[in-house]
Amino acid sequence: MIAAPHNASLRAAQGCSAPAALARPVLRERGQREVFCGLTGIMWLHRKIQDAFFLIIGSRTCAHLMQSAAGVMIFAEPRFGTAIIEEKDLAGLADANEELDRVVTRLLERRPDIKLLFLVGSCPSEVIKLDLSRAATRLSSQFSPAVRVLNYSGSGIETTFTQGEDACLAALVPSLPSQAKDAPASLLIVGVLADAVEDQFRRLFEAIGIADVAFLPARRAGDMPAIGSKTRYLLAQPFLNDTARAVEARGAIRLPAPFPLGAEGTEGWLQAAATAFGVPQQKFEAVIAPAKARAERAVNHHRDALAGRRIFFFPDSQLEIPIARFLNRELGMRLIEVGTPYLQQEHLAADLALLPADTVLSEGQDVDRQLDRCRDAAPDIVVCGLGLANPLEAEGITTKWAIELVFTPIQGFEQAGDLAELFARPLVRRARLEV
Ligand code: SF4
Repeated sequence: MIAAPHNASLRAAQGCSAPAALARPVLRERGQREVFCGLTGIMWLHRKIQDAFFLIIGSRTCAHLMQSAAGVMIFAEPRFGTAIIEEKDLAGLADANEELDRVVTRLLERRPDIKLLFLVGSCPSEVIKLDLSRAATRLSSQFSPAVRVLNYSGSGIETTFTQGEDACLAALVPSLPSQAKDAPASLLIVGVLADAVEDQFRRLFEAIGIADVAFLPARRAGDMPAIGSKTRYLLAQPFLNDTARAVEARGAIRLPAPFPLGAEGTEGWLQAAATAFGVPQQKFEAVIAPAKARAERAVNHHRDALAGRRIFFFPDSQLEIPIARFLNRELGMRLIEVGTPYLQQEHLAADLALLPADTVLSEGQDVDRQLDRCRDAAPDIVVCGLGLANPLEAEGITTKWAIELVFTPIQGFEQAGDLAELFARPLVRRARLEV
């Protein structure tokens, strides 16, 4: 059955892949983690692709997680739901495939607006080894061409938090149209950005002379970009490892760049495209100058609240390294430890190169040991998941929820001040409380 989107649980998961060694030392931990599972990504993906539907094949727990993550949002026509796997399915007493086909048929008959359906795997569907990729192929041919059916896993066994977006986009890439052989070079921005941020970037690219720009994912299933060997792509998010691999398998070439956070990161990110597309440097600088100056002014506004303050990052969103770079270089914050669930050194090379040489980097988590290090260091502010924030606040430590960094538009020049404010606000609030 399809349940209305429902609610809440943090999940401890184990194990992660080890990246190649970095030039600088990295503390690697493989203990218990406190982080959301990849289903959470549906919260921003369903808003982005407006004619898609995300059908979680999961349990009541999964449905509860989604409702909790969605907060009090009420949809007349929700764009995600959960097909609940009942105990009889788990015990192998029912044919889950037949049930799934029934649920999908009912959903698509009722909702002709759905053009792209994602079957999203979860821990329970993994437990009963439901082959969602075969189900997606079967259903896709049944409902083609009106609806395309794809699948990916958001299971807490396999994914954390932002990896849900990675898994979703990686599933989408093989179905993208191919670029014509004689197509001119084009720019592809990979990763979900808020529509307003996307529009700002599109205007800037046009103004510097790069008109052929597409975004993955597009806002509608029928507008997904073509891809091929003439595609040059910029990652908009640092957690898109599998998507990057899939895009490159289609011939696209990545433009190395820092991530577009803060004035410096945004300039570096745009510069990478400008250089690749032969934009004259003078023109580039003249076009971005007003927005860059606005960003610097907005960031400076928060400098007094943040300069010299000590910050500790628990691993959560995979945004930690570019945000640490921004807070350190543009706001003068001191980095005690920057933790990240996975350290993708190739995609993060430009950001890592801008961190102070003595920054402690950690990858993965052993939550108790990390909490001990955090308490010993007594930072001014801690970035962490919801599960850690309350106990730390109770101990008098100021926190910032990592999930806010994913839900808030923070990329680009116009959002640089908002990003600084996200960190300044809790510190200013605590200072007021203490007065
Ligand atoms: Fe919990 Fe797994 Fe469902 Fe995520 S996918 S809500 S971790 S049961």
